[in-house]
Amino acid sequence: MVLNLIFLGPPGAGKGTVAQAVMDKYSLIQISTGDLVRAEVASGSALGKEIEAVINKGNLVEDNLIGQMFEKYLKEKVSSPDFNGFILDGFPRTLPQADMLKGILERLNQNLTAVIYIESSKDSVVKRLSSRWTCEKCKKVYNTVSLKPKVDGICDVDGAKLIQRDDDKPETIAKRYDTFLEKTLPLINYYEKENILYKYDGNVSPALSIEAANKIIEKFVK
Ligand SMILES: [Zn+2]
Repeated sequence: MVLNLIFLGPPGAGKGTVAQAVMDKYSLIQISTGDLVRAEVASGSALGKEIEAVINKGNLVEDNLIGQMFEKYLKEKVSSPDFNGFILDGFPRTLPQADMLKGILERLNQNLTAVIYIESSKDSVVKRLSSRWTCEKCKKVYNTVSLKPKVDGICDVDGAKLIQRDDDKPETIAKRYDTFLEKTLPLINYYEKENILYKYDGNVSPALSIEAANKIIEKFVK
């Protein structure tokens, strides 16, 4: 049984941790379009050169180039006897990309098994991510939940003040959350209509989140 999966979830939902656990458990490959772009450019192929020219001009790589690259890569992977399925990272992000993906999978005789949406509230995401504090002097990173400094607000190493980077501030995290929902809702609706959307409550510990994801996936493994 091949498992082809997509995980969706706001930044801070623990998507990376869950995807990694599922990938290890079922020996899936992760396909990151960012990695593909870098590898294609490094290979010096005609497509790589085309993509490099776009990037050098400071432009975004167009969907159809991403699609070509992805199809070429996946075609090679699915023909391997070791292929058990994939988890996509960073793709699709938009409806046109989702349509394109559908076409590619059809041509390669593949199906998307499930799109798993890790539902997480804004509160829990903000709480989780805003716990990062950084020493203003040596840049050591602390976490007020899992890696507390000995004295609140003070670096263990050099006694300097701990500050919160802009990226770790609650208001920045809340904004990223809103942007995620706005951009991803159409995709969620799209996969709901395709009857392959499965969601679970991600406002739990990483271990429970992995368990919830596995419970969904187990249905397809029999
Ligand atoms: Zn320090």
